[in-house]
Amino acid sequence: MKCEICGGDHGERYSCNAMPIVNGRCCMTCDDLIVSPVRILQRTYPDAANEIVALFRSSVKTHAHLKRERLKLTKGQHGQAQDQR
Ligand SMILES: [Zn+2]
Repeated sequence: MKCEICGGDHGERYSCNAMPIVNGRCCMTCDDLIVSPVRILQRTYPDAANEIVALFRSSVKTHAHLKRERLKLTKGQHGQAQDQR
């Protein structure tokens, strides 16, 4: 299981529901530190919680974008696609 918040690879055992941060799965660390506190915040301060969710979503997108750009650069340097095996 690949965590959709931190990008780390963790066993299936540690898969948690990553909503409302992202529509997918996350690791227990991200669940404890990000997802659960935001869920609690949503009950009392929904506006603040929504702002935090928006911030996290944009940073997750930026992270994925940077990863793709780095992959393109790596491919360019070697003139061919990297073997994933
Ligand atoms: Zn994580």
